[in-house]
Amino acid sequence: MLKLFITKAINLTIKRPYFLVKRLFISIGTIVNKSGRRKECNICGKTLNNFLPYRQNYKLDAYNEILDWVGSDVKNFACVHCRSHDRERHLFMYFDALDLWNEFSNKKILHFAPEAHLSKKIKELEPSLYVQGDFNPKYLFEGNSDILNIDATDIKYNDEYFDFLICNHVLEHIVDYKKAFSEIYRVLKKNGKAILQTPYSRTLSKNFEDPGIQTNLQREVLYGQHDHVRVFSEKQFFNDLNEAGFTLNIQKHDSLFDVNTSFRHGVNKLEDLVLVEKDKEIQVG
Ligand SMILES: [Zn+2]
Repeated sequence: MLKLFITKAINLTIKRPYFLVKRLFISIGTIVNKSGRRKECNICGKTLNNFLPYRQNYKLDAYNEILDWVGSDVKNFACVHCRSHDRERHLFMYFDALDLWNEFSNKKILHFAPEAHLSKKIKELEPSLYVQGDFNPKYLFEGNSDILNIDATDIKYNDEYFDFLICNHVLEHIVDYKKAFSEIYRVLKKNGKAILQTPYSRTLSKNFEDPGIQTNLQREVLYGQHDHVRVFSEKQFFNDLNEAGFTLNIQKHDSLFDVNTSFRHGVNKLEDLVLVEKDKEIQVG
């Protein structure tokens, strides 16, 4: 009883004020950040001082630099106003610059791990069918009944069914990614397009994955995130896409945007758009 009393007293006199002060500082920081004008979210249109980092203590370490790792802008991750993340803002930039929004009206779309702002925009464009899927929709999107349980390595739709497919930073979570490539290729119509973003290394000549790497900590340190299953090599990633039958139509960030734009919108200027296409059958004769 005495012990309980002492514990409660400590909580009230030490811990609670500490957390209240901490929350106060965070609130003040958020207000200051939201009133800044250094950066601008290209989705909600609001300005801010800085996008929030992927994790509070995240540091770009030497390992990432050695691997010449291309992926998210982890230092400029979330918008403090609309919570959009850098990968979603980057797709909006590419879709605007390349006029890819035209690909959605009256078309059949398959969108894996759908981002909230992007899916809202796609719905407004009135596709003839918009399928949102994830391998574990209950875990990721609790309460959103629009998202179906779809395994990218076993897509339960007919051949040549979809016009456009979006798979934004999903492949690094999939063990049998080559099966996912063949499934995506199979369900795309001829002339169909897919966006297949994933982090990759420009240093590695082959993918790095090893069955001995099993724990969350090992994956976190060696693959960059606890639920990633490899580090893709850019070279192997593109080769494997070619082998799956896709034509690569990589859109270079540098050729579409200047440095100021990528800084202002908080996106990784090294991350190009991996746009792939399923060609029409060549007519013989
Ligand atoms: Zn925003």
